[in-house]
Amino acid sequence: MNQTREVVRAWAHCRHGLCPGYLQEEVDAERVETAFTFKDNGGRGSVPGVERSFVELLWTDQEQAACPSCGTPRELTDQERPQYEASGYDPMGLVNSGAGGFNAQVQNSEADERMAAMEAQIAKLTAALEKNEKKAD
Ligand SMILES: [Zn+2]
Repeated sequence: MNQTREVVRAWAHCRHGLCPGYLQEEVDAERVETAFTFKDNGGRGSVPGVERSFVELLWTDQEQAACPSCGTPRELTDQERPQYEASGYDPMGLVNSGAGGFNAQVQNSEADERMAAMEAQIAKLTAALEKNEKKAD
């Protein structure tokens, strides 16, 4: 087993999507890469090279580990969150369910259902009328 350690730039964020700490903060982190060769894992002979490895990011400053907003442990990542092309929709619209957003508590009223049934009947009758007009031509 071989371990290499270096201090790198990393990004910290809160795990809770609705917490203000969810926005990434650039921090220093210790990048620890642990590598195992084929021989380390019980292989015989002289197959060279690394068979498997993994990377961990550790806090260089433990005081930064807690979310400044809610106090829960934050996550570290070596990638800045990508910014996708704006679609025009609020990316948090479904989560926040603000004005005009999705609200699971809202149910159709009886009047809404009657109106939907009437609209469906009107569409059926319109289609039947159009069919008859075509026959008459
Ligand atoms: Zn938080």
